[in-house]
Amino acid sequence: MISGRSDKRKEQYDVPLELPSTFSFSQSSLQSYVNCPRRFWLAYVEQLTWPALEVAPYDEHEQQLRRGAQFHQLVERAEAGLPRELLRQGLDYPLDEWFESYLRHRPADLPSENVEVERVLSVPLAVDAGRSRLAARYDLIAFGGDDENRRVVILDWKTNQRATRRSFLQQRMQTLVYPFVLVEASAGLPWGPVSPEQVEMRYWFTVAPTEPVTFHYSSDLHAANRAKLEKILNEILRGERQADFPKVADTEENRRRFCSYCVYRSRCDRGIGAGSLEEFDEAEFPDSGLEDALDFTLEEIQELVF
Ligand code: SF4
Repeated sequence: MISGRSDKRKEQYDVPLELPSTFSFSQSSLQSYVNCPRRFWLAYVEQLTWPALEVAPYDEHEQQLRRGAQFHQLVERAEAGLPRELLRQGLDYPLDEWFESYLRHRPADLPSENVEVERVLSVPLAVDAGRSRLAARYDLIAFGGDDENRRVVILDWKTNQRATRRSFLQQRMQTLVYPFVLVEASAGLPWGPVSPEQVEMRYWFTVAPTEPVTFHYSSDLHAANRAKLEKILNEILRGERQADFPKVADTEENRRRFCSYCVYRSRCDRGIGAGSLEEFDEAEFPDSGLEDALDFTLEEIQELVF
């Protein structure tokens, strides 16, 4: 259940499942659970800090995370209408190139009636007597059209070293959670409601700005996503102890894909060295740089009660 938790409990390894009262599920925490239930337990229930690197070399990874955050901030300011010349001033490589790519290749077909950036939405789910919420932070939501031709595009800016494959993105919790939360929340928004058929999710990459990856949404997908989300949340909320959150199977592939990029690997006896940045894909572990991804603040969340 979701409730308050004491510091004493936090220090223990085997404690009944308690999530902070402000906790909202997100694509990051759910992806973490899907990748490895034990990681979800350690990161989100125990909130256990562990002295290890996620990715090596650390400095370079940190720099990439910082540049990614700076790019998002630049785009947010550009979308808010700040003069381009002002925003260009003092930009170093590769931010200068990324920003020019954004200016040249921002999708021309985005609806323009209503554009929102860095919006956080949160909706209740029909589990745990409606106490559990699912939240999403959107880089950009573009809405337009009349009742018959209404269109909403969710855009996510990606600054990865490589463009993520479509087949891989299709399996990501982000591709499921973002349109789901938007449709559920849309009845409470000034420009809503929208039906699933009116929504599309688009990933835009700084390394491939002319090749965004688009997923169209539908009522069938929405129903399937609801069932999947409720199943995962019920599974999580049924868990009571660490033992209910098993480690991902110990295979060579899982060690390479998950454990080598997870700070808990020495605690789990899954190796010592951090995975290499060269092979790292942030879509695999969206809560990389965990301290930023753990939670949403209450102020950020647009509370929507139905
Ligand atoms: S090290 Fe591996 S098994 Fe342990 S929490 Fe991380 S991903 Fe799971």
